[in-house]
Amino acid sequence: MRRLVGTHVYSYVKCPRLAALDLHLPRSERRPPHPWEEFAARRGREFEAAYVQRLPVRVPVYPERDFEAGAAATLALLREGAPWIHQGVLASDDRLGLPDLLRKVPGASDLGDHHYEVVDVKTSGRARADQILQVVFYAELLAAVQGRLPTHGGLVLKDGREERFPIADFLAAQREVVEELRRLREDPELARPFLQAACASCHHDRRCLPELQRRDDLSLVQHMSHGARAILERLGCRTTAELAAFEPDGARARGNLDATLLRRLRRAAQARQRGAPVVEPRPRSPLDPAAIVHLLADPFADRVLAFGVLYPAREDGTFRWAPAPTAAAEWEVFRALVDALPARAALLHFGDALPRWCETHTFARDAEAAIEARFVDLGQRLRTAAVYPAPVFGLADLVRTALGRDPLRAGHPGAAAMWAAEPGGEARLQAKLEHDLRDLAALKAAILDVAAPAPGSPAASLPVTGAAGEAAC
Ligand code: SF4
Repeated sequence: MRRLVGTHVYSYVKCPRLAALDLHLPRSERRPPHPWEEFAARRGREFEAAYVQRLPVRVPVYPERDFEAGAAATLALLREGAPWIHQGVLASDDRLGLPDLLRKVPGASDLGDHHYEVVDVKTSGRARADQILQVVFYAELLAAVQGRLPTHGGLVLKDGREERFPIADFLAAQREVVEELRRLREDPELARPFLQAACASCHHDRRCLPELQRRDDLSLVQHMSHGARAILERLGCRTTAELAAFEPDGARARGNLDATLLRRLRRAAQARQRGAPVVEPRPRSPLDPAAIVHLLADPFADRVLAFGVLYPAREDGTFRWAPAPTAAAEWEVFRALVDALPARAALLHFGDALPRWCETHTFARDAEAAIEARFVDLGQRLRTAAVYPAPVFGLADLVRTALGRDPLRAGHPGAAAMWAAEPGGEARLQAKLEHDLRDLAALKAAILDVAAPAPGSPAASLPVTGAAGEAAC
């Protein structure tokens, strides 16, 4: 029987199917990590090592993978009262935990006048539920060893700040996850794959996505939820093809699904059958004159690495870009690109990355607030202007689905920090910005600039240049 470990808790929160597969399959069945994923993992390890270096830590010594010996060596250090223990081993019944740090705190326990609490080191900017539950998982294992549950746990975040939280607040949720994991260990089919944003970075994507395609699974339809899929399947509607023709008579026949939601899902399933987006027949305010502004960031360092602009906002517009060599230079680099644009041009961007970045900079510059007033989120407009033949979680999905292009032909945006650290990496940043900007212009032309067709018009379905229906998978 495979033991439950902290990463199973972490995986379960991301996707129960991921936890089920991790519990049942050997590591060799996972997709090998992409270079940028390895780069990010290495940075995480280096960050942890740099943080731990400042502490007077002790490390249990034991033969590799002999976790019983590791747990015994950790117990010896706990009894001894070492102020910090790095990479201790906690084992109890069918669970095994390898927390980053155990910290000695006052208060009697089975160990003596002291006890320990768990501190994990993360590279995120704020504490997430999956990280908190992982610490609570370790805290329960620690309780079995020291005879008392620590009152608090801690997460060290990427700015070095520690966020503390009461263990009791999350204990019930953590226990529920552990019970679910035990059920999944018995039967992995209790958690089926479901197409979601997390699939794009999941090491089981090459297993799940073909399976979803084979089954013509309902999660391949835009706006589908787990609950709606379960209701539709109970009603005998199990594939996107069946959903496209599903016209139940009355609330009972549609499983009390909201009629508007069902209509929306059916339209999305029909778009999938056609393999092309269906533009919504409603008036839209014109966007021109406009430029498209885009950035590539390093989320770990909270840095923008480069900005690009395309003006006019057409695929054949003039592309300009500039790298931001330091955090201090970001604002000037951005301003120089924007100041060269006509003052009346709207600044089209995708998602909230640019406004969020701008907000932190304009906070100290009242006079610059006019720039933010020119922002228009293309992502929001594109999402509401059409029904797509596949779920669209981000720019890559829109490019694949609506244009039939490979959105990663100039590389993955998650690799930007890795390129920036490589000799000659600037050329890759430039190419990625240019491809993304021209893709955004093509999306604007294909979805937002076309005259909205009349309801029911056969012209409502856009022609596409590739196999859009297959795209999201
Ligand atoms: S590919 Fe998607 S459905 Fe499959 S395990 Fe990963 S996140 Fe879950």
